[in-house]
Amino acid sequence: MKRPSFDCIVLGLGAMGSSTAYQLALKGKKVLGLEQFTCAHDRGSSHGETRLIRKAYFEHPDYVPLLERSYQLWKELELRSRKKLLHETGLVIFGEEKKSQILQGVRLSSSRYGIPIEEWDYKTIQKRFPQANVSSSFIGLYEKSGGYLEVENCVQTFCEQAGHLGSELHFEEPVNSWKKTESGFEVMTSKGTYHAQQLVITTGSWNGILLKEANPFLKVHRAPLFWFESQGKFKKEKGVPCFAFDVPEGFFYGFTESGGEVKIALHQPLELVKDPSREDRSVKPEEAKPVTDFVVEYLKDLNPEPTRGAICFYTLSPDTHFILDAIPDCPGGFWAGGFSGHGFKFASLIGEVLSDWVIDGKTRSPVQFLAMRRLQG
Ligand SMILES: Cc1cc2nc3c(=O)[nH]c(=O)nc-3n(C[C@H](O)[C@H](O)[C@H](O)COP(=O)(O)OP(=O)(O)OC[C@H]3O[C@@H](n4cnc5c(N)ncnc54)[C@H](O)[C@@H]3O)c2cc1C
Repeated sequence: MKRPSFDCIVLGLGAMGSSTAYQLALKGKKVLGLEQFTCAHDRGSSHGETRLIRKAYFEHPDYVPLLERSYQLWKELELRSRKKLLHETGLVIFGEEKKSQILQGVRLSSSRYGIPIEEWDYKTIQKRFPQANVSSSFIGLYEKSGGYLEVENCVQTFCEQAGHLGSELHFEEPVNSWKKTESGFEVMTSKGTYHAQQLVITTGSWNGILLKEANPFLKVHRAPLFWFESQGKFKKEKGVPCFAFDVPEGFFYGFTESGGEVKIALHQPLELVKDPSREDRSVKPEEAKPVTDFVVEYLKDLNPEPTRGAICFYTLSPDTHFILDAIPDCPGGFWAGGFSGHGFKFASLIGEVLSDWVIDGKTRSPVQFLAMRRLQG
């Protein structure tokens, strides 16, 4: 049976794909989105309840203009869907000024783009975040616009809105392969064959399987998340912000309390994942140890025994910056990946950029620094 044709097919409806389908539908395009699992599932990189968002980006100041637009687009999505997705609780990063490149990076982005940052000395830390167990050599850099996004709720909302705007989204329909044809693209799934003029690949940790050109640049790793009992001591209603610590043991971050628990993680890729579809996603005891040790050493008022944990995937690029580009030698094809454990906050913007490329072949957002050519030869 000949299937109907679409303007664009989006492969993978996680963070980036669901946002792209939504943006394309918003601009009147006839979209097919294909996802191998259910909507907002827990088998890729976009689960675990929350993701940090902040503007004074220590990873590189070039991300700041993209973040400004990401915030605008998250707020537009909230207005359209009438759902609360973004919580600006504030975010404080603790560290020792002379030793912490992260604090230096926060200051650089903040001064270059005028993002207000408060500096907390030891006395202020004791007053504003008494839960921190740090020595007097520590400072805190507090960003009021920092906070978190409700991760599954965001993906679900992109999908719902894309659906309301007329997109066709198929779940539990894995894509087996795709090819370029004379008139566009042909996509083969477990259930059928579809045609479209354009194609977007946003299959996260599976990008290397569907896009051979991406494979050499991407490595998938386990990344665990843990929850700890907090007995009302980390509530955002009491003015407690999200937090992060740059300490010799690593970069740890945590969220305000939800349902009597605080979520904490170490921003570090663990074991390499050979096949994301077959990976055992139960948490190993040795994966919890660094985070438990961190809680004992640096936080007060938390029970250091995790109540639960979850495994998520980091897909690392060689320099841990994102890759956004056209598919080589495939006019009309685009892809995004290598989000390296810090991409979710940008999902609203990535969808806009990919939809701009599909529709206009160009975008106003300054994303050239994320092109794949920086990694080649
Ligand atoms: C533990 C952890 C903590 C993180 N913390 C933060 C944070 O605090 N702040 C932040 O900004 N970012 C954070 N990140 C990073 C962020 O979550 C990711 O960068 C982002 O979710 C990646 O989105 P994605 O769309 O690339 O991948 P995904 O959301 O995984 O989407 C890819 C989708 O493609 C689908 N797919 C794959 N193959 C096929 C196929 N053949 N057919 C059909 N569908 C297919 C998958 O099932 C999946 O749904 C964190 C990541 C992890 C793992």
